[in-house]
Amino acid sequence: MVKINELTHYTQQLMLVSRFKDYCPNGLQVEGKSEIRKIVTGVTASMALLEAAKETGADLILVHHGYFWRNENPVIEGVKRKRIAFLLKYDLNLLAYHLPLDAHPELGNNVQFGKVLGLEVICYLGDDNLVAYAELESAVTLSEFGAHIQAKLRRAPMLIGNADKLIKKVAWCTGAAQGYMEIAIASGVDVFISGEVSEQTTHQAMESGVAYISAGHHVTERYGVQALGAHLAHHFDLMHEFIDIYNPV
Ligand SMILES: [Zn+2]
Repeated sequence: MVKINELTHYTQQLMLVSRFKDYCPNGLQVEGKSEIRKIVTGVTASMALLEAAKETGADLILVHHGYFWRNENPVIEGVKRKRIAFLLKYDLNLLAYHLPLDAHPELGNNVQFGKVLGLEVICYLGDDNLVAYAELESAVTLSEFGAHIQAKLRRAPMLIGNADKLIKKVAWCTGAAQGYMEIAIASGVDVFISGEVSEQTTHQAMESGVAYISAGHHVTERYGVQALGAHLAHHFDLMHEFIDIYNPV
């Protein structure tokens, strides 16, 4: 057992929260019971995750996508009211880490996603360490690389580019980071992987010759929160369970 204040204090230091300018508060977003025995992790603090976490006896729900985003309506009504009312009713703590969890050098989404694909980060491109870079030992075609991703993520990615293009230099950023395609192009990589895709991404890929892979926002961001949850469970001797709520995007 650990007190929520002690756990939160430790996690704020671990996640280097003060280094980031983010679109949401990082750390404790909704306060619940003071004693923590079980952590449930998930990608997004949706109602389905809250209900599943309560069913499995969670004291703390740890997510990548929490609440209170910069440009959203601050009024507590509708979907937001139901979620917060549920947390308060069952005395559940909600802890959320957004950019600090993407970028963390050991537990972060980018590093952990790379591990799943067998990619070891060599360096980062652009600002804030948010675009990871690795090189394959030997080049494979785009379609072969896509099949590898599908096998590892158990989800078919969208591939944009010549299927026979040889891939060796790989850049990636989990989530909705298609906006970083320009950084990838400027860096001269063979392929850029992220979770979502925009209409203009296809043109950028075809005209630059840098292939693009849209591998899924949810699936690319499943790994950081699991690594952080496992780390906290080990550090404080707590129970931890990751609950994967299906999302097609
Ligand atoms: Zn995300």
